[in-house]
Amino acid sequence: MKTIGLIGGMSWESSVEYYRIINEEVKNRLGGLHSAKCLLYSVDFAEVEHFQATGEWEKAGHLLAEAAYSLEKAGAKFIVICTNTMHKVVHYIEEKIHIPILHIAEATATQINRTGIQTVGLLGTKYTMEQDFYIKRIEANGIKVIIPDENDRNIVNKVIYEELCLGDIKQSSKEYYKNIIKSLVENGAEGIILGCTEIGLLVKQDDSDVPLFDTTFIHALEAVNLALAE
Ligand code: GLU
Repeated sequence: MKTIGLIGGMSWESSVEYYRIINEEVKNRLGGLHSAKCLLYSVDFAEVEHFQATGEWEKAGHLLAEAAYSLEKAGAKFIVICTNTMHKVVHYIEEKIHIPILHIAEATATQINRTGIQTVGLLGTKYTMEQDFYIKRIEANGIKVIIPDENDRNIVNKVIYEELCLGDIKQSSKEYYKNIIKSLVENGAEGIILGCTEIGLLVKQDDSDVPLFDTTFIHALEAVNLALAE
């Protein structure tokens, strides 16, 4: 089994989910007392969020590159960045290390393509929904991506930073998200990417008539696939 290097803390509410899913999956597959070999470098999210808000992506990139480098030195065989948004700076990390990074959008696109779905709605931070670093990676796999309108994007983003990343799960926000998913479906989405690693804490498959692609779950399972591959 390969050692997984997790860069977490963005937020830690979702890193906990990665840790749980990865260990449960290893246990399911290997049985008995088996658990995942993994290392977690958990950053201070306030520092990262500050760099996001001020547009200092290079600084954020170097911060995460240092984290990845530490994980490599400690014995990680590949890196899992436990956030969609921070894949914006994946190139800074790639430059610094000699082990592969399991890209969250690639893992998600592969999963979508297995279902035959061609058009998906995307929910995530404003950076993920509005900039091209994420959508391009999904669309390069032959999948069309649609996003909510500006007002809905603001709601989705606000709920992520002001509630979900603080562990605050509100029924009222769940209703907002359900309505936003409905609008995306009316606009042609056959499935929805939960493109922020905390959204799965709020919205479940039962809340949607179309398939939900929970990036935390998909990414964590793919990490196990890679860790257990020959
Ligand atoms: N965890 C979130 C994501 O998947 C948002 C937090 C962040 O900005 O990294 O995008």
